[in-house]
Amino acid sequence: KLSPRLAAVKDLVNDQARVADIGSDHAYLAAALLLEKKSEFALVGEVAQGPLENAIHTVAHYGLSDQVTCRLADGLAAIEPADRIETVVIAGMGGLLIEKILTAGQDKGPFNQLILQPNTDQAAVRLWLSKNSYRIDQEEIVQEGHHRYEIIVAVPGQQELTRADWTFGPKLLQAKSPVFLAKWKQERSRAAEVLSRLENAQQTGSEKYVNLQKKLNFINQEVF
Ligand code: SAM
Repeated sequence: KLSPRLAAVKDLVNDQARVADIGSDHAYLAAALLLEKKSEFALVGEVAQGPLENAIHTVAHYGLSDQVTCRLADGLAAIEPADRIETVVIAGMGGLLIEKILTAGQDKGPFNQLILQPNTDQAAVRLWLSKNSYRIDQEEIVQEGHHRYEIIVAVPGQQELTRADWTFGPKLLQAKSPVFLAKWKQERSRAAEVLSRLENAQQTGSEKYVNLQKKLNFINQEVF
């Protein structure tokens, strides 16, 4: 059974798409897609030997070796034209690494669907998409334990993003789900805490103070 985060990623995959899961580790997502017959082919890409072995183990355990190919490769280099990949998933990594993988693999695309789940630097990922002829089609924010995970689904297209869009996520900002509001409430109280510490230290003139104050105002103005 998948974690809520990976289950949400899986649900966003286009039905019957040929999927590449880049940085797959255990290949749980690929296995679930095949076992649920949501997909008939998945490619698993891994840059590291240990995780690749985890993936191969899962695939063999579920008897999916005919439908799931596992390759040792850096990023989108795992994808070959004959795979006819339609959906690329990159989940559970930092946003800057996702951006790097997408930039390095630009000759491989465009793909019908990108499903990205950056653990950090979500704004950088959104900016990359808008600068590289993708538009954000769907977004989700999922709570799992103490963590909240953002999932961004992009499709080929043009999109101008405002600062609020790339900071908060255009679809997330529209929907303002309880999990989204909880995230920004927390960000807001963290910022307020640091601000009051800086005030006590009489550092209200510092660049840090000014920037945090701006961030706090922006959150209040756009989200709440
Ligand atoms: N995608 C799975 C998930 O969301 O649960 C696993 C995430 S795991 C934290 C990140 C995986 O990405 C690791 O197994 C790591 O080896 C792999 N990875 C990191 N950089 C990579 C790259 N450039 N190309 C392929 N895989 C990469």
